[in-house]
Amino acid sequence: MSSHQVVLIPGDGIGPEITQAVQKILAAAGAPVEWETHRAGLDALKTGNEVLPSTTVDAIHQHQVALKGPCTTPVGEGFTSVNVQIRKQLNLYAAVRPVRNLAGVQTRFDNVDLVIVRENTEGLYSGVENQLTSDVVMSMKIATETACQRIARWAFRYATQKKRKKITVFHKANIMKVTDGLFLRCARTVHQRDYPNIDYDEVIIDAGCMKLVQRPEEFDVLLLENLYGDVVSDLCAGLVGGLGMVPGANFGDEIAVFEAVHGSAPDIAGKGIANPLALLMSAVMMLNHISDTRDDPQCRQVADSIKKAYNTALADGETTADLGGDLSTEEFADRVVRLVG
Ligand code: NAD
Repeated sequence: MSSHQVVLIPGDGIGPEITQAVQKILAAAGAPVEWETHRAGLDALKTGNEVLPSTTVDAIHQHQVALKGPCTTPVGEGFTSVNVQIRKQLNLYAAVRPVRNLAGVQTRFDNVDLVIVRENTEGLYSGVENQLTSDVVMSMKIATETACQRIARWAFRYATQKKRKKITVFHKANIMKVTDGLFLRCARTVHQRDYPNIDYDEVIIDAGCMKLVQRPEEFDVLLLENLYGDVVSDLCAGLVGGLGMVPGANFGDEIAVFEAVHGSAPDIAGKGIANPLALLMSAVMMLNHISDTRDDPQCRQVADSIKKAYNTALADGETTADLGGDLSTEEFADRVVRLVG
């Protein structure tokens, strides 16, 4: 089978370093992908483009699969998040983030194996904010029945396909009775009507966060609206060794963009010490997705060999500093390349 064209967005901060490492590993493993590199974020602005050039969005539309490095968003001022713009413009409504322990990485908990499914298009992330008077600002939380039903159906279908047992919805419907109430109602309806095979549970988010850091092994699939999914993703990353360990994907009906949960990590950018593992695991998810949707078994074989290689490296204690090791980004990539070859 010929190779698959994939859009590559290096992004900002540590983005170029980790995407380069991931490209090197995929090439060594013989992944049948042909990269088409496009800019987004500060990287695009620097070259006189829009922060999210239409050529980048068009290329993702055309090729339907992208691997994306993190993009920086200014805090408290400046342009709207490029990451949010990509998800909205391409209608990538479902974010999925598998979180699990890996052998060789010391953490406080064992047996963590959960998946976060985050609604990706609305909620407080809508970014509808106004200055009402000189004293008053407001932010609008938006929920639609269409998006709440869509993400609930996606989560239950995913749980069924992946042979997961339970979905827990995190919410704050005791306070946000209308918006989170709608989110809950849609999840309950989809569960009762179409997916009685999956156990269903609901937890108020504050208590849910406590339970997560006490007994994370009791959770399976978590379903959350946009902002809660964002925050709880990082919390869960902390359960298994940090942000360097958690991959992710943003799915629409046709298009999928794969990216790590972490951001551009400006504090370590350019130092050559960033962990490329989360982006590498996202690339493995991407290869499995291509295999499933385009009936290409080679992609799954390559994905399996990369997974085996990084598992061996971690089990041998060969890690970057965030996981307690002393390897640079490049050294870790080279170890995986050797193991995959
Ligand atoms: P961050 O995830 O970039 O970093 C948080 C901490 O984790 C930092 O100490 C960082 O050094 C560490 N870290 C993150 N990834 C790492 C890796 N691969 N290896 C080793 N250490 C790693 O979060 P932040 O500092 O809050 O955000 C920085 C920028 O990234 C902001 O502009 C934010 O908007 C953006 N961001 C982008 C995305 C995305 O592109 N999807 C996601 C989150 C944040």
